[in-house]
Amino acid sequence: MTSAAVEAVRVHKNFGPLQVLRGVDLRVEPGEVCCIIGPSGSGKSTFLRCINHLERIDAGRLYVDGQPVGYAERGGRLYELTERKVARQRRQVGMVFQRFNLFGHLTALENVMEAPIQVDRKSKETARREACALLEQVGLTNRQNAYPTQLSGGQQQRVAIARALAMQPKLMLFDEPTSALDPELVGEVLDVMRQLARDGMTMVVVTHEMGFAREIADNLVFMDGGAVVESGLPTALLTNPTHPRTQDFLAKVL
Ligand code: ADP
Ligand code: MG
Repeated sequence: MTSAAVEAVRVHKNFGPLQVLRGVDLRVEPGEVCCIIGPSGSGKSTFLRCINHLERIDAGRLYVDGQPVGYAERGGRLYELTERKVARQRRQVGMVFQRFNLFGHLTALENVMEAPIQVDRKSKETARREACALLEQVGLTNRQNAYPTQLSGGQQQRVAIARALAMQPKLMLFDEPTSALDPELVGEVLDVMRQLARDGMTMVVVTHEMGFAREIADNLVFMDGGAVVESGLPTALLTNPTHPRTQDFLAKVL
């Protein structure tokens, strides 16, 4: 049996007295696109950040590609990973945030080349060749020498996607990647994500774009109050939600 790309079992996360995740259960298969929707404050970002080692869970179990996040499992016991091994685990996961966070002093091309050179120790020539191909994939071949301030929000976000892909992740996390964009720029970013999904990338996408979620999600997950309330095929969940909280939320956003 192959491992799930992501498996969360009763995942809990607290910030001091605040219980932000209260037993998240979720499974994402390799090659699957999982979209997460839910009200603001329901713990969606925190959950993604736990998957990507930006937060540490307080209870439950969280696996990426069969490996417990931040730990090694031997003989049924968990051992905390060294920093180097954590770094290796993290590299399997690419993340794209609402804010693009590009390096302002680097061109689009240099932004995409940076991690392969610094982290993977790739040669400049190899990194450049791969970065060019990635910028082509996101439709930015003609903007590769532009600096972030010279790019639109949609272009910056596409550079951010290319930059995440440069580390050849097995899994891509997107946290509301289009929420900060002007409406007319949303489509070009969704197009890139749609193509990535078609190419078979495993993706977890927090989004408010219901049409997009309906179209590309293999599994649509509704989170509220730090837990998964309901999940299923997008058509079923969006047209026939069974839980009152899902019904409430969808009535507000659809
Ligand atoms: P969502 O992404 O669904 O809007 P978040 O995961 O960002 O929700 O936040 C869930 C809750 O956790 C919110 O109440 C938020 O204020 C709180 N929270 C998130 N990060 C922190 C933090 N670093 N410290 C304290 N509280 C936090
Ligand atoms: Mg959020």
